[in-house]
Amino acid sequence: MKPMYINGEWLTSTDGQTIDVFNPATETVLDSVPNGSAEDAVKAIEAAHHAFQEWRWVTALERAEMLQQASTKLRQHFDEVVKLLTLEQGKAISENEEETEWVIGTLDYYAGLVRNYRGRVLPPAERSQFNFIIKEPYGVCACIIPFNYPLLLMIWKVAPALAAGNTVIIKPSDQTPLTTLRLMELVFDHFPPGVVNVLTGQGDRVGDVLVEHPQVPLIAFTGSTAIGQRIGALAAKRVKRTHLELGGKDPFVIAPDADVESAAEAIAYSALLNAGQVCTSTERIYVPHDKAEAFTGALSDFVATLRLGPGIERTTDIGPMSAPGYREKVINHIQDAKSKGAKILKGGTIPPNIDQGWFFNPTIMVNVDHSMLCMRQETFGPLIPIMTYRTFDEAIALCNDSDYGLGACLRSNDARLVKRFFEEVQAGTIWINDPLTDNYGGPFGGFKMSGNARELGEEGLESFLETKHVHWDFDDTVKDYWYPYT
Ligand code: NAP
Repeated sequence: MKPMYINGEWLTSTDGQTIDVFNPATETVLDSVPNGSAEDAVKAIEAAHHAFQEWRWVTALERAEMLQQASTKLRQHFDEVVKLLTLEQGKAISENEEETEWVIGTLDYYAGLVRNYRGRVLPPAERSQFNFIIKEPYGVCACIIPFNYPLLLMIWKVAPALAAGNTVIIKPSDQTPLTTLRLMELVFDHFPPGVVNVLTGQGDRVGDVLVEHPQVPLIAFTGSTAIGQRIGALAAKRVKRTHLELGGKDPFVIAPDADVESAAEAIAYSALLNAGQVCTSTERIYVPHDKAEAFTGALSDFVATLRLGPGIERTTDIGPMSAPGYREKVINHIQDAKSKGAKILKGGTIPPNIDQGWFFNPTIMVNVDHSMLCMRQETFGPLIPIMTYRTFDEAIALCNDSDYGLGACLRSNDARLVKRFFEEVQAGTIWINDPLTDNYGGPFGGFKMSGNARELGEEGLESFLETKHVHWDFDDTVKDYWYPYT
């Protein structure tokens, strides 16, 4: 069993419970971790609160140096980290290399940003006054992470939180805690005890304690909209800061001017990356009516070339889904759509030739509409539902006909359509021609039920800094605008 990391110590759960962690490509147990209890959660909060009393006064330059050291160490242990991440998460090894490179880049980015971060001086209202804005850390930040990008989504929170002078409690998904724990040994071991903690355990055992405890002023959560709503409601009782990065149902519009062959490859990538388990996976495709046949033909041909297999094998393009429950949801969406008239062009089944692992064949579906679950709820799997449109107005209206607003993609080089798309579509990120790429400086987050937060960029650091206005009058004489008024 791999113990959890609290206050610089390796601990089991106080009640001895454990959770098995599986390799989704083989359905075998990789290792186990403590199933933390409410008592363990309090222990982590107290350790992080205690560590904060010192850590908050460590200068920004020293904190930047420590983040830079973490980045250097991760470079040194790159191959080991990538391998473990692939075994527990499942996606293709090249995607895990990319994830780990982004983790390194994020550490570098926030080390650089905090070195140059400044407050603000205001013009005073009176000659004797000096007004300025300073930024302060909040204290203990609970960072709750999903299974699909365990390191990336962790570091998007942890790097800016630490840079800003907060201490953190990382709560990884109970499906993917192993690589995060390994990073504590390999990469974060130079941080003082209690500054970075990893509390493993089921969300419903430790979640409420983290969210409700008075010594946790900020909860940074990435995960499903349902759990985000619960966290938001609980946190509101103490008017806590919550950063909620939630689910999506991203549209992809092929404009009338777009080339269907290259659009097919772009959509295969954005819909099937990580077996469709990306918050910004393309989950709704809108294609001009008169291009539908050419497009679906090109897409079917291209998808047929993609290879399913264990992520650890270099020949794999698409790995397994991370847990059987996620695969069930895809099957449910397909059955619902078929019962309402949808037609499967490709896939739709568990691959019969692979006898272990939670694989699902990439699936292309046509004749879909917005009455179907696959066009309304997050599917989070390798499903590509295609709908046709006749006018660009209709395409934009279809994009916006959703409770979600995380990302949206367009293939076009018609400047008038591009401008309309990025101005009118309600989403936190708009990708034109190159879907799903990130930029360290580009804030990422959702509109509508996809969340209320922004990670990365200056906004990502601001999220972990409280704002304080200092009003300082050098003249300590009695003011003529105080009492008495006569
Ligand atoms: P999830 O089920 O909501 O779980 C996310 C995290 O919350 C896990 O660590 C989970 O712990 C924990 N949790 C569960 N119940 C909790 C509770 N009552 N209180 C506090 N924490 C609790 O999400 P998931 O299935 O891991 O991830 C997929 C979802 O994440 C999708 O909806 C996807 O769109 C979304 N996502 C969003 C973004 C974004 O940036 N917007 C990025 C990636 C993923 P357990 O592991 O023990 O359940």
